[in-house]
Amino acid sequence: MPFEADALETAPNTVVIVGAGQAGAWVAITLRALDPHRRIILIGDEAHPPYERPPLSKAVLAGKAEIESAYIKPRDFYAAARIELILGQHVERVERARSQVEISDGSRLGYGALVLATGAKARKLSVPGGDLPQLHVLRGAADVERIRPELVAGKRVLAIGAGFIGLEFAAVAVGLGCRVTVIDAASHAMGRVVDPEVARTLTANHERRGVVFRFSTGVSAIREAGTQIEIEIDSGETLSADLVVVGVGAIPNTDLAREAGLECDGGVIVDAFGRTSDPRIFAAGDVSRHFNPLLGRALRLESWQNAQNQGIAIGKIIAGSREPYAEIPWFWTDQYESNFQIVGAPAAWDRIVWRGDPDGRAFTAVYLHGDRVVAGNTMNNARDIRFLKQLILSGKPVEPATLADSAISLAQLAKG
Ligand code: FAD
Repeated sequence: MPFEADALETAPNTVVIVGAGQAGAWVAITLRALDPHRRIILIGDEAHPPYERPPLSKAVLAGKAEIESAYIKPRDFYAAARIELILGQHVERVERARSQVEISDGSRLGYGALVLATGAKARKLSVPGGDLPQLHVLRGAADVERIRPELVAGKRVLAIGAGFIGLEFAAVAVGLGCRVTVIDAASHAMGRVVDPEVARTLTANHERRGVVFRFSTGVSAIREAGTQIEIEIDSGETLSADLVVVGVGAIPNTDLAREAGLECDGGVIVDAFGRTSDPRIFAAGDVSRHFNPLLGRALRLESWQNAQNQGIAIGKIIAGSREPYAEIPWFWTDQYESNFQIVGAPAAWDRIVWRGDPDGRAFTAVYLHGDRVVAGNTMNNARDIRFLKQLILSGKPVEPATLADSAISLAQLAKG
């Protein structure tokens, strides 16, 4: 779709942003920095001003940091920047014909441009008992407030799902002296984004600390049994725990967009400029399924990088930029003292080349499709990320044997 420059220029002067999370905040902050005049309204249904979520399953859950330390900007920044921050209010409806949104307190706000930055919600288990109130998820500050007091030494805790949320939760719980089991219906951790061999290095790190994994184990029912929770698994066996955290993925909050008739397909569909099927409405962050010109395909990402940088890109676009949002996806997770990073989002790969020792503290795993680098993982080797990104971007052929030779640095290979 060509960029219709006047779609925004003819619009009234108000930008309404729905969702005061990381993406929404960065749209507002960027737009204000570039445009001192426009009215900017940022509406969120949580009690806190915009905050970053990564610390929630790490330092904040461990009790080593307060949620305030994750605030994107101090609470008083928004008024000073003339960003009208409305908290504790849910946007109920988008009325495109009137260019208005309706808020839970009954008020309506008109927009010239609208940004949907509504994020995602934790997926529930669709099994009998999957909606028991005793089951926890780990998505927002309120979830952490509920879980944190329950993490007491000696307790038996169970994480359902061995994705990054389940693994980070397990690391914190073990650190606090809990006895931890992680179960997952898949045969290995980290789903389809990480190669099984690489995923095993992550789980080995947990096993050394006493975490028990049950892979290829689906949950068939969940029951309350006094103060315990009983999890019936596929084999018919019953596991029992004092605390259960469900980390089985997230579902994008597309309701507003769908009800407004915007195109959605596992996320609100946007182009590389963040525009939905209505060019005056944008979508950013976890809720969006965007076209990535570098990868040549559309994808939905749940990552700090995407929330922040797509938010910034859309803030600039509303202010007049014509630069598409185009980045190689990047993600990190911290578990114990280990920092694991993922760069690239390959649709497929056919081999892994290791650099360093997979059983050791640090390594880099390079994902090849044919003779091209399509992704990489680093364990305590963050400096390689930059060069992996360059290799992915360049698309130049590499010899696996050269790639495996740690006497040749990735920097040299990237310069090639
Ligand atoms: P959100 O942060 O979810 O913000 C959306 C906001 O919109 C929420 O406050 C929501 O309540 C609000 N909202 C929704 N609907 C409405 C409505 N109708 N009206 C008003 N408000 C509404 N990424 C990494 O790269 N590395 C990590 O280590 C990492 N750790 C993470 C740990 C946790 C526990 C979680 C949950 C995520 C983590 N992520 C990590 C992912 C990253 O934090 C998310 O991708 C990012 O927060 C997405 O930002 P967002 O603004 O799109 O959505």
